[in-house]
Amino acid sequence: MTNTRNRFVHINQRIEQAFTQSGRSTGNPVTLLAVSKHHSLEKIHALYELGQRDFGESYLQEALTKINASTDSDIIWHFIGPIQSNKTKDIAQNFQWVHSVDRLKIARRLSAQYPDKALPLNICLQINISQETQKSGFSSSEIFSIIEEIIDLPHLAIRGLMAIPKPTDNVTQQKKAFHELNELMQQLNKQFKLNMDTLSMGMSNDLESAIIEGATIIRVGTALFGPRE
Ligand SMILES: *Cc1c(COP(=O)(O)O)cnc(C)c1O
Repeated sequence: MTNTRNRFVHINQRIEQAFTQSGRSTGNPVTLLAVSKHHSLEKIHALYELGQRDFGESYLQEALTKINASTDSDIIWHFIGPIQSNKTKDIAQNFQWVHSVDRLKIARRLSAQYPDKALPLNICLQINISQETQKSGFSSSEIFSIIEEIIDLPHLAIRGLMAIPKPTDNVTQQKKAFHELNELMQQLNKQFKLNMDTLSMGMSNDLESAIIEGATIIRVGTALFGPRE
C-alpha cells in the first residue's frame, strides 16, 4: 500500500501548491474526490484508512456492489457517470451527491425518488462547456431556460456545476474552459438568486488549472489509484 500512500500524499501536495498559486485565501477549500471506478474495494479501503472520505463512481452496478459490501459507513458516495432514466431510483437511494445531472427529466426523477425527505440530495448540473456534439450536459445557454424548473424541485439542492472539458495539454485552453464554468455559475447565481458554491472540475491531468480557476471539487482517478484495472 506504499504506492497508494505515496500517490495520496503527492496529490495533496499538488492541491496545496495550486491552491497557494491561485491566491484563493477565502471561500471554499478544495475537496479531493477519489474516482474509484474500476478499482477494488480493497483500494478504496486503503485510501479510507489514510483519511479519504469522498469517493466517486461512474457505473451504477459496479458502484452498488462496492457500496453494499463496504463497511466504511461514513464514506460519502458521489455519482459522476452518465445517467439512464431507469437508474435514477438506485442512484437517489445510494448516493449523497450526483454530479452528472444533464437533463430535466433526470432531475425530476431524482427528486421524486429520493428517500430522505429531511435533507435534500446534493446535485451538480453538468455543462457541456467545450460544446462537443457527442458529450452530455446542458449547453451554457439552454441552462438559463431550464434551471427554474430544477430549482422548483423539492428534494434537490443545486450545489453547483460540473464539466468535463475537452482534454488538452495546453494550460491556457484548460484554464479557459474552467474559467467559463466559473463565470457561468456566478451568472446563474446572480440571475436566479442562487447560492451555488460548488465547481466540480479538474481531473488527474488538469487539476492545477482547475484549482487556479476556482474548482471546489476535483475528481481524480488515475493519479490516485494508478491505471484502472
Ligand atoms: C473517470 C473520471 C474521472 C477521473 O479521471 P482520471 O483521468 O482517471 O483522473 C473524473 N471525472 C469523471 C466524470 C470520470 O468519469
